[in-house]
Amino acid sequence: MPIFDFICKQCGHKFDRMVSNAEKNKIRCPECGAEVKQMLSSFSTAGSSSARDNCQGCAAAGAGCGLRH
Ligand SMILES: [Zn+2]
Repeated sequence: MPIFDFICKQCGHKFDRMVSNAEKNKIRCPECGAEVKQMLSSFSTAGSSSARDNCQGCAAAGAGCGLRH
C-alpha cells in the first residue's frame, strides 16, 4: 500500500498514513477529527524538497501549491 501525506483542513496537523486508494478519502485528522486534504508531496519528493521548504510562506504552504509555486 502507498503512503500518503495528509494535512488537516481544520487545525493544519500534518501526518502520513499507509492506506489504499479507496480508503484515503475516509481519513480524518487524528488530532481533531476534521476532514483532511491529501498532500501531493509524496509524488514530488524527489529533487524538490528544497522547493517545498521555500513554499512555507505561501498561502497554500504544503497543502497544494507543490511544484506549481
Ligand atoms: Zn485537525
